[in-house]
Amino acid sequence: MSQVTVVGLGPMGSKMAETLLASGHQVAVWNRTASKAAPLVAKGARQAESAADGELLVVSQISYQAMYDSLGDARLDGKVVVNLSSDTPEALRGAARWVQERGGTLITAGIMVPPPGIGQPGAYTFYSGPKEVLDRHAGTLEALSEVTYVGPDQGLAMMYYQAQLLIFWSSLTSYMHAMAMLRTAGTSPMEFLPFARDLFTQLGSEGPMGYAKILAQEFEAGEYPGGENSLHMQAVGIGHAVAALADAGLETTMPGALKALFERADAEGRGHEGLGTVIESIRKP
Ligand code: NDP
Repeated sequence: MSQVTVVGLGPMGSKMAETLLASGHQVAVWNRTASKAAPLVAKGARQAESAADGELLVVSQISYQAMYDSLGDARLDGKVVVNLSSDTPEALRGAARWVQERGGTLITAGIMVPPPGIGQPGAYTFYSGPKEVLDRHAGTLEALSEVTYVGPDQGLAMMYYQAQLLIFWSSLTSYMHAMAMLRTAGTSPMEFLPFARDLFTQLGSEGPMGYAKILAQEFEAGEYPGGENSLHMQAVGIGHAVAALADAGLETTMPGALKALFERADAEGRGHEGLGTVIESIRKP
């Protein structure tokens, strides 16, 4: 079993260290606030002397600035830094150069599960950077989740991660608007739950409501046939939904932004096309 140093012991890093320990690895731990290492040391981890103490550094912190702050001016000759923290793709590319200037190699990552999902079936992490380096450590990283390699560009893992989170945050915020609106009419969230679940499932299906695939195919083809549900009809419809939220005394920032986007695509003369034509407005802000 290999040796690994976990840098950053927030909810994610702590669970990562615990999972690596449980799968038999020799784990060292380091955190800015050193006291957070104690429960892991009690489980058999070694207290690292510095954030750069180890050959394989698995980093999980609030941002990449935290990695700079933690590693400081340490040399990283021959070391592999696997960073699973959030930041922008550009920040990750800059970090790859920073690590390289110090003699090390950066593998970037976006982990797609919350702490309880780490090490559980169905967990996966997007990785990018030099594949041969990732391959050398994939056996260790598989203790955390499935290893999903997306390409050599170190910014790419974060783009995949953020692509997933855009869907996650926006769809769940709309779900919260939906529950709040129904609540004003006395409908409980649990009464609505079966219908929400059905929609989430259908959007990912192969059926007539399978819009995840339909929009991907339309985007690839560059054609957005309106058929029997034009964007114009939907721009009017979302106007009604935003007015319904306002009438119910609720806030409307996000649905209002969708309305504005749909109306712009309509005003640009593409109202006869389908919902997918909104992609063209997104691509030309
Ligand atoms: P946080 O994002 O709150 O990060 C906490 C860690 O960052 C702590 O170890 C903290 O140290 C450290 N830190 C913050 N600033 C600095 C600094 N300037 N120098 C050194 N260390 C610093 O906790 P999470 O564990 O929740 O998340 C870690 C990463 O994982 C984030 O990038 C997050 O976006 C991502 N993520 C989180 C998920 C989740 O469900 N929680 C799911 C998927 C990804 P200290 O203890 O000293 O404050």
